[in-house]
Amino acid sequence: MSSWNAAGLRSSADTIRGAAIPKISYNRRMIAKDLLDILVCPVCKKPLELRQNPESLRCGQCRRVYPIRDNIPVMLVDEATIEPAQADQNRTG
Ligand SMILES: [Zn+2]
Repeated sequence: MSSWNAAGLRSSADTIRGAAIPKISYNRRMIAKDLLDILVCPVCKKPLELRQNPESLRCGQCRRVYPIRDNIPVMLVDEATIEPAQADQNRTG
């Protein structure tokens, strides 16, 4: 999933010389997918899941939820909250 990357930017930068800033396709208020790819839980080194309401990053391994403040993920164990196990996943069978 790297098709949206900077392919073509180099050639246009040659003529434009940075006069125009290319439009960013993803929502500025959202954390970039690329950033998500490099972020892991500092405790278990597992990839994180982006959540929206409120915006936060959740580790599927230890269920720590890291807050996002001003679009900056706070990857501090002290700041993280541990989410209790979800009741609706607790079905038998
Ligand atoms: Zn974790």
